[in-house]
Amino acid sequence: MQKVLITGAAGFLGSHLCDRFIKEGFHVIGMDNLITGDLKNIEHLFKLDHFEFYHHDVTKFVHIPGKLDYILHFASPASPIDYLKIPIQTLKVGSLGTHNLLGLAKEKKARILIASTSEVYGDPLVHPQNEEYYGNVNTIGPRGVYDEAKRFQESITMAYHTYHGLETRIARIFNTYGPRMRLNDGRVVPAFIGQALRGEDLTIFGDGKQTRSFCYVDDQVEGIYRLLFSNYIYPVNIGNPDEITIKTFAEEIIKLTETKQKVMYKDLPIDDPMQRQPDISKAKEVLDWEPKVSRSDGMKRTLDYFKGFSKGELEKSEHRDFS
Ligand code: UDP
Repeated sequence: MQKVLITGAAGFLGSHLCDRFIKEGFHVIGMDNLITGDLKNIEHLFKLDHFEFYHHDVTKFVHIPGKLDYILHFASPASPIDYLKIPIQTLKVGSLGTHNLLGLAKEKKARILIASTSEVYGDPLVHPQNEEYYGNVNTIGPRGVYDEAKRFQESITMAYHTYHGLETRIARIFNTYGPRMRLNDGRVVPAFIGQALRGEDLTIFGDGKQTRSFCYVDDQVEGIYRLLFSNYIYPVNIGNPDEITIKTFAEEIIKLTETKQKVMYKDLPIDDPMQRQPDISKAKEVLDWEPKVSRSDGMKRTLDYFKGFSKGELEKSEHRDFS
């Protein structure tokens, strides 16, 4: 039986990846320090023989006994309010954490896939963003701790590939949404849904003309899965190119949730990218992959998940303003 280590296992993407690898018949070791992850996301896996959980911080030496075939490094805060709250941990997990996992991969002769991000493009000046674009990043801005850690992560991963011959894969993940997002992580999807369900106005930052392109989590997981088992070692964008302004998105959520609430405007956070849309030609070519789930279907499934929250849980997760 093949063994895979998934870091950030209790997080949004990590937990969905655990599900997928269990379903594919792997022995899954989930690892998380639970700073931003939540055990609720993987509770259903604990009863399985082929799932283990290590409560561990990957910025410290990582030891896994026995053989290991694959590593997926998905441990990292991934929302702007987290970068503001825990900037040093954000830098460390992308840099020191990645270094430890590359060392582990080398020791075990395992293939490693790292979760990079569209944030390596910063506030991009090229649209849509393809993998050849070098980006426009403010190193000392609030997002710099994430963006630069992820850029370093890509560099050290390529260095381990070229210098040590390690089998490496790099996924550049664009905005992804779905069940198990943290309701109060400040990201726009849970923020708008939470506000609508609590009967609050939806907070649009800036004039709402900035764009994003939202990928449903099942599509994202499929792209990552295919990339791991492909032979392609350079970065690959994985996201949904269906671009929308945040204002139109807020209107869609109002319609979907049938809320009587309206939108309200707040200041745009510093370095908030104005336009973001993946060019996924590479993923189509090398992975034969493209997203299948429409925004309306994906948002319905996501809303259903959040509708399962009790009133108390919804109130507790009151939207945190970081503008
Ligand atoms: N946003 C917003 N209202 C909110 C939360 C976010 O208008 O309550 C905007 C935010 O300024 C950004 C977009 O939605 O332009 C996406 O934000 P998110 O934090 O989800 O992701 P990122 O900016 O990292 O793409």
